[in-house]
Amino acid sequence: MTAMTSTDESTTGLRPATRAVVAGREGREPGQQVGSPLVLTSTYAADGPVNYARNGNPTWSAFEEALGSLEGGRALVFGSGMAAVAAALSLVPIGGVVVAPHSAYNGTLATLKEREKRGELTVRTVELTDTAATVDALAGADLVWLESPTNPLLEVADLEALVEAARAAGVLSVVDNTFATPLAQRPLELGSDLVVHSVTKYLSGHSDVILGACVVREDGDQIFTALSGHRSLYGAIAGPLETWLALRGIRTLHLRLERASANAAELVRRLTGHPALERVRYPGCGAIVSVDVAGGAEAAEAVCRRVRLWVPSTSLGGVESQVERRRRWESESAAVPEGLLRLSVGIEDVGDLWRDLDSALRG
Ligand SMILES: *Cc1c(COP(=O)(O)O)cnc(C)c1O
Repeated sequence: MTAMTSTDESTTGLRPATRAVVAGREGREPGQQVGSPLVLTSTYAADGPVNYARNGNPTWSAFEEALGSLEGGRALVFGSGMAAVAAALSLVPIGGVVVAPHSAYNGTLATLKEREKRGELTVRTVELTDTAATVDALAGADLVWLESPTNPLLEVADLEALVEAARAAGVLSVVDNTFATPLAQRPLELGSDLVVHSVTKYLSGHSDVILGACVVREDGDQIFTALSGHRSLYGAIAGPLETWLALRGIRTLHLRLERASANAAELVRRLTGHPALERVRYPGCGAIVSVDVAGGAEAAEAVCRRVRLWVPSTSLGGVESQVERRRRWESESAAVPEGLLRLSVGIEDVGDLWRDLDSALRG
């Protein structure tokens, strides 16, 4: 769709923290509002660049410019992360083959399994951290789904090698970049074709919005047209208010991540060797930490009942610290230990977070 905002803020040459603040901002004609307008309309006066609001909205365009600038591509906002996942998977032809990790987001795997059951496509599941096996599985495939670090085991895949192998094999590569965010990892720069986000998580960052996005390479016209056509036809569109809140979230993404990551690193330092834990899992950066509680499911559930500051809840990436025993979901992989707690570390004072968690672990 044609961008509807007349942004005059070129972000070329700017560092990511600056892009997060300025990308998608409107011009600076005298009297121009500085805040991004929240545009609520279902239609437009005829003969303009967009005819109807299922096809485009200026609030979407501002958000899309901001996210596109951060990822280095062209973004399309969707009504949820899963709507963006469904749009990405619509690129697979009927009868096509998709390579996907066992450890992919469970909603993504459920969608793939459902479409396989209907006979629409075939799924080859792989262990993404086994680069050689994943590369072998690419032969004759149409699309490879990549996610790193994995959720909730936080294993790190060799994205660069996998994206390169996919390109060489003529296989479309999609990276779900929800966990890493474009501040830590920009898959399009590695050569991947498409990035998917649950904007619900870090990009929005305040646990008040469900939203998703796809980001396509600058030279990916065909994919961009297919995805924006899918969005208009199937109608999985974002509400302007949610999009506006998510844009506001992006403006502080770098600050929130900086603080949350520093908190996570400090908690990992203090949790390592904790008598109540069998293992601390941490990829070395980011703000998600997983811990294996000694005593399994029961002991881990007890920790969730005892915390007062940490919020026992699913989801991640908000300003508030969250804790969840992942195996409480039947859909969670059996490879995840029963006693594993996923910690989404927020931006609170780390001393307060530590005291609450340590006391809950000690019982
Ligand atoms: C949450 C999540 C999704 C799904 O996004 P929704 O916004 O909940 O629809 C997809 N991928 C990952 C990695 C997620 O964490």
